[in-house]
Amino acid sequence: MTGADGGGDARRDDLAQRYAAARARLDAAIDATGRRRDDVELLVVTKFFPADDVTRLIGLGVRSFGESREPEAGRKIAEVRSAALDDTATDARFDMIGSVQSKKAKTIAEWARSVHSVDRDKIVDALARGAQAALDSGARTADLGILLQVSLDGDPHRGGATEDELPALAERVIGADGLSLKGLMVIAPVEGSAERWMQRAAEIQRRFVEEHPEAWQLSAGMSGDLEEAVAHGSTCVRVGTAIMGPRPLVSQ
Ligand SMILES: *Cc1c(COP(=O)(O)O)cnc(C)c1O
Repeated sequence: MTGADGGGDARRDDLAQRYAAARARLDAAIDATGRRRDDVELLVVTKFFPADDVTRLIGLGVRSFGESREPEAGRKIAEVRSAALDDTATDARFDMIGSVQSKKAKTIAEWARSVHSVDRDKIVDALARGAQAALDSGARTADLGILLQVSLDGDPHRGGATEDELPALAERVIGADGLSLKGLMVIAPVEGSAERWMQRAAEIQRRFVEEHPEAWQLSAGMSGDLEEAVAHGSTCVRVGTAIMGPRPLVSQ
């Protein structure tokens, strides 16, 4: 038998190797810009992978995770925390990076540090209600961080608000108890050049932080385009496949 803590854990070795390679890639990308290594957070995207993998990654020193589906995420995080033998799992942070349905906002607000994928009023309002309830019950102690997802090509299917919609959305987040505006999130369209999309993300972000200097986070870059994202000011890359391997099921 092998387990997350046992000897001879081939999956642990596998994750260790790919995590080290992704970390080295990210460090090289950051070094090339002259920025500081801790200016860019590495969020390991564990969607579709089991709680045991999250526990293995915590054992490797990872503390920041991205999840994209509820209730999968809430269940997994509860399992990770209850299986933990020490308090390393309690300082692990989980961000919601996938699209949010209003009816799931309440449970997401119980486990997420931040939600990266907020693109409409209805979701802001649902997350605000969820965050207030979670603060009242003690399920969370800090405001829920909000990143506004902005569409780089205006295609509504991929999600994301247009740049024109950002000012009103930002005001709605700022006006809501329980929420704290942190910044913007982008997903580069697959067609076209990642370099060009990330350049566009940087331009949008530059205009956004002129109005909202406190909301300086830019969540940008995945397994395939983290170098371009870091070169254009990403403060958080969301890396799944390069660390976890191919996802067991294909979705989003
Ligand atoms: C799945 C996912 C990722 C990770 O993508 P990889 O290409 O596997 O690194 C990043 N961001 C979002 C929003 C995702 O849904």
